[in-house]
Amino acid sequence: MSQEFKPESLMMSHGYKPELSEGAIKAPIFQTSTFVFKSAEEGKAFFEVAYGLREKEQDEELGLIYSRINNPNLEILENRLSLWDKADDTAVFESGMSAISTVLLEFLKPGELVLYSSPTYGGTDHFIQEFLPKIGVEYAVFHPENTQEEIEEIIEKTGKKDKLGLIYIETPANPTNTIIDIEMCRRIADKYRNGDDNTYVCVDNTYMGPVWSKPLEAGADLVVYSATKFIGGHSDLIAGAVLSNAELMTRVKTLRTFLGNMVSPHTAWLMLRSLETLKIRMEKQCENAQKVANFLKDHDKVKKVHYLGLIDENSTEYAVYKKQYNSPGAMISFDIKGGEKAAFKFLNSLKLVKLAVSLGSTESLAQHPQTMTHCGIDPEARERMGVTEDLVRVSIGVEDADDLIWDIKQALAAV
Ligand SMILES: *Cc1c(COP(=O)(O)O)cnc(C)c1O
Repeated sequence: MSQEFKPESLMMSHGYKPELSEGAIKAPIFQTSTFVFKSAEEGKAFFEVAYGLREKEQDEELGLIYSRINNPNLEILENRLSLWDKADDTAVFESGMSAISTVLLEFLKPGELVLYSSPTYGGTDHFIQEFLPKIGVEYAVFHPENTQEEIEEIIEKTGKKDKLGLIYIETPANPTNTIIDIEMCRRIADKYRNGDDNTYVCVDNTYMGPVWSKPLEAGADLVVYSATKFIGGHSDLIAGAVLSNAELMTRVKTLRTFLGNMVSPHTAWLMLRSLETLKIRMEKQCENAQKVANFLKDHDKVKKVHYLGLIDENSTEYAVYKKQYNSPGAMISFDIKGGEKAAFKFLNSLKLVKLAVSLGSTESLAQHPQTMTHCGIDPEARERMGVTEDLVRVSIGVEDADDLIWDIKQALAAV
């Protein structure tokens, strides 16, 4: 008899052999830069595989060489992280931005076009708009409310429809929780093949992953994470990840080897700790978020709550939400009555929820996107995406739900 264990059952053991580490039940931190070869022949064999001079033999594992190329903490972490998205492989990076910029550099060439969704994370937006044009990559932008026909029109208008290298989307979008249909993006990518090349689809799944959404199953080629958020989950590290099939991951890992932006052994070890509680943390965060969202939606100082659990069941957005996500998540935004003054009074009055950017952590965090995370965006574009002076974003943690509601209630009363 055998049982196919679920990812949460494997987060404590998968990919680690205690007998290789004195029987220690937990993987030690392999705080080492280089690894001793048993013989010169072994060193040669390891390098041949690492540099692609020959294919790996069946069952041959890439031998340990040097911690920029591989390290046991990274390998165990990457094997475990792959399970959630059912990806062939994962590459872990020193930040979400370094994961994202590596993907953009690897899958776009001079002369090509990247189509991306707005709003998108500020750092990603900056990299696409300010850096990519310097290496000859043009961009086009679409919005969550655009239909497939409208998006195709945007592509055609660029005059580069046969040069579409990558469709990059963030769904649900930060901070508005608007969602984009990944299957629709797949259809568009297949329609505008990039000459003989594929047009790849990449999803930033930071807001919902890896527990609540599986973009690879929905048709994406690549998934990226800021692992600083839910995956790390304790506000004590910065990291990122890219997941995909074996072929694309070889490309990502090769570029990572030469950029040298892999995560450190110590951070990888902290993330292994985090993965053990990933699912129960996220479940508790979502349970709390649903209670908080329900409290906010009836409050007379709140104009509107942007939360996946409150999407109108008769809207087209609802159908995409149901197909793409198995949970409403733990990120809530809401429009407060009274603009920046009211928003700031609310934020300054919180006693339990911390006033800080970032998200997905054990402690609840609140911030004001217009003047904080999204202050660098063009004001007109920002209004358009709903990031107004009224908008407050809250990331819900694992505290007691009644305590959270008490805190939010007293802070709203102070407004
Ligand atoms: C935080 C974040 C990033 C950037 O990740 P870092 O780990 O801060 O580099 C990218 N995308 C989203 C959606 C994020 O929330």
